[in-house]
Amino acid sequence: MLAEDVEINQDASDVNKRVSVKFHNGKTLEGGMFIDCEGRSSLTRKLANPEHPEACTLPYKFVGSIVELTPEEYHALKAKYDPLLFQGTIPSSGTFFWFSLLSSPAHNGTSNYQCQVNISWKLADGVANLPFESVKEAFAEVQKRTTGLHESLTVLRDKLLKTGEKNYMELCLGDWPFAEWNDHNGLLLLAGDAAHAMVMYRGEAANHGIADVKLLEGILESYLKEGGSWNKFAAKYQTKLRERAKPGVLMSRQACYDAHNWNKIVSSLAIGTNKGKSCTGDEVSTPLLSSRAKKS
Ligand SMILES: Cc1cc2nc3c(=O)[nH]c(=O)nc-3n(C[C@H](O)[C@H](O)[C@H](O)COP(=O)(O)OP(=O)(O)OC[C@H]3O[C@@H](n4cnc5c(N)ncnc54)[C@H](O)[C@@H]3O)c2cc1C
Repeated sequence: MLAEDVEINQDASDVNKRVSVKFHNGKTLEGGMFIDCEGRSSLTRKLANPEHPEACTLPYKFVGSIVELTPEEYHALKAKYDPLLFQGTIPSSGTFFWFSLLSSPAHNGTSNYQCQVNISWKLADGVANLPFESVKEAFAEVQKRTTGLHESLTVLRDKLLKTGEKNYMELCLGDWPFAEWNDHNGLLLLAGDAAHAMVMYRGEAANHGIADVKLLEGILESYLKEGGSWNKFAAKYQTKLRERAKPGVLMSRQACYDAHNWNKIVSSLAIGTNKGKSCTGDEVSTPLLSSRAKKS
């Protein structure tokens, strides 16, 4: 059921009816506390943080699809790269490339491997981050952006371009860096992407959601043991969540910037891998960021 509105009534005589949630089908539910886990585009942030209810849009386009690889195609990739996940940047265009395995024939009931192929790129300064008008338009841009992709990976790009509308995915990249809200005397808590949406370039957003649940569980246990005012415990939840997740949002944003900045990648390779020595042409020709790539 889609929640359309959340109302908080501090003065309700029944503490179990202080929060009411209206649903699109006309139903209303009441409760003692509301935990907003509505994800990145949470509607309840209007109530939780009226000054900053919306996620911040970053100037990057992200297009992807689920593609099917035959066992031969998959094993050819696996022989060269990590079998589960690899990411890289196309030096000539600063376009980010992402591969991950979603399911194998042993689990998906087909004879093929299902994989995710995504690419993203920075928009030119001043260009608004608007959705493509059609999948055709998006794929034309993907074709242009992936010129220069390493030849061993073009099979993935070609599969992506052939998927059509069915598995096509376009994301407006954005985050919510505030991780701060008015909890209305402990009656409104946020968790998961609603509390700290972050872009996926460090792969940690869902992990923070799990950590939020663990944190809340501990806080509820302490409250039940120690008693007293719930407000103090709710405030502790928010403080601890913010201390952990806010840096995560900002580091993920930085990782997004860096993943599309080939010059920075090359200089960090020079510092990290080569202990200060300048890069040779060999590093520049590698398509991978990840050190998990297999040596051929
Ligand atoms: C391509 C991609 C790759 C990723 N990779 C990783 C990774 O490797 N590691 C990692 O940790 N994270 C990763 N993430 C992030 C991860 O997917 C999210 O952090 C996680 O799904 C957030 O979970 P959530 O429950 O907070 O929000 P969501 O998954 O967004 O769930 C929110 C739910 O609430 C529902 N909802 C929203 N509003 C309402 C409403 N008003 N009423 C009723 N229901 C509502 C939605 O329909 C949805 O089901 C990735 C994300 C993407 C897009």
